[in-house]
Amino acid sequence: MDLYEHQARQLFQDHGIPVPRAEVTRSPKEAREIARRLGGRAVVKAQVKTGGRGKAGGVRLVADPAAAELTARQMLGTAINGHRVRTLMLAEPVDIAEEFYVSYVLDRASGGFLAIACAQGGVDIEEVAAHHPQAVARIPVDRAEGVTSTKAGEIASAAGLPPRTADVLVRLWQVLVAEDALLVEVNPLVRTAQGHVLALDGKVTLDDNARFRQARWGDEDTEQRDPLETEAAARGLHYVKLDGEVGIIGNGAGLVMSTLDVVAGCGARPADFLDIGGGASAEVMADALSVVLADPAVRSVLVNVFGGITACDTVADGILAAVDRVRPTKPLVVRLDGNNAARGRAILDARAHPLVEQAATMDGAARRAAELAHTA
Ligand code: GDP
Ligand code: MN
Repeated sequence: MDLYEHQARQLFQDHGIPVPRAEVTRSPKEAREIARRLGGRAVVKAQVKTGGRGKAGGVRLVADPAAAELTARQMLGTAINGHRVRTLMLAEPVDIAEEFYVSYVLDRASGGFLAIACAQGGVDIEEVAAHHPQAVARIPVDRAEGVTSTKAGEIASAAGLPPRTADVLVRLWQVLVAEDALLVEVNPLVRTAQGHVLALDGKVTLDDNARFRQARWGDEDTEQRDPLETEAAARGLHYVKLDGEVGIIGNGAGLVMSTLDVVAGCGARPADFLDIGGGASAEVMADALSVVLADPAVRSVLVNVFGGITACDTVADGILAAVDRVRPTKPLVVRLDGNNAARGRAILDARAHPLVEQAATMDGAARRAAELAHTA
């Protein structure tokens, strides 16, 4: 789970990282009061879990409390990169001399943590990383040793950050460990004109597996969750919305992931990950189909089931019952294999539903689903 900027800021503050004074609100009138408390001028910041917020108009410097109220009124309720703005943070403006980038992130490729740091931080960090990769230091961090002040000094010097940022680097690592985070990022970490080091913007991604001991963040941030994912979760389905056009339904996380790869290999993009698990009953299948088909981007659906505990004939019955219930308007490609596959296929053949076709292999099914998505 990603935290909001104001939550990340709170964590930084809890761990002794200097941050600007700030308050959170959902009301323009209160925004005016907050700006007054901050000294008149303020930075009004939309609280949305998406990058590029500043460039999208979600970070605005205002000169006085009246302007804070007006800006808050304009910003609240709008969408930034598709994320509705419900909450604002108003922060005390800072006189920036230099902007740096620092983060710790779990690097799944190496199975360890990486410190990533760059002396040219700020809103253009992606361009810097793309065009001047040598300007970005990437230093492995041993999970057991962590970031000592010696290590922090190494990271700072490798990235060309001033030595006085080392204390923040040590504390930022403490945030990662204490809060069960997979990512802690500060961009920008600034040196102010007065010579102070401040964390101006933060991103923290918590490890969902540790949610049980991070109760302060609540159970789930349904607010920003995709509505289809919320709907699927309510029906007990493991569904993740993706950006493509081929709907995917399968049983077993491993099989579903392979299916995504094979569909991508056929030049199409998966629209979702949906694992219906072992008990592929008619009801579960119908729920799965209705969630996948509710995504307007879906142009074809690939059902890839390997019959195990649930035999393929039961799955075939489930698919037909689901089709009768959901009444799809998009074509379905079904690949059944494993326990009772022949009987399952015969059941689908006998029904000869105009929108349901079968494929003998996973590759063939993916190719056909991709083709249908591009012609349907
Ligand atoms: P992001 O676009 O979501 O990363 O939003 P940030 O909070 O990082 O702000 C984007 C940019 O706005 C920063 O890189 C700064 O250049 C600028 N900015 C943010 N807060 C302040 C501030 O207090 N003073 C000044 N001068 N600029 C700020
Ligand atoms: Mn930022």
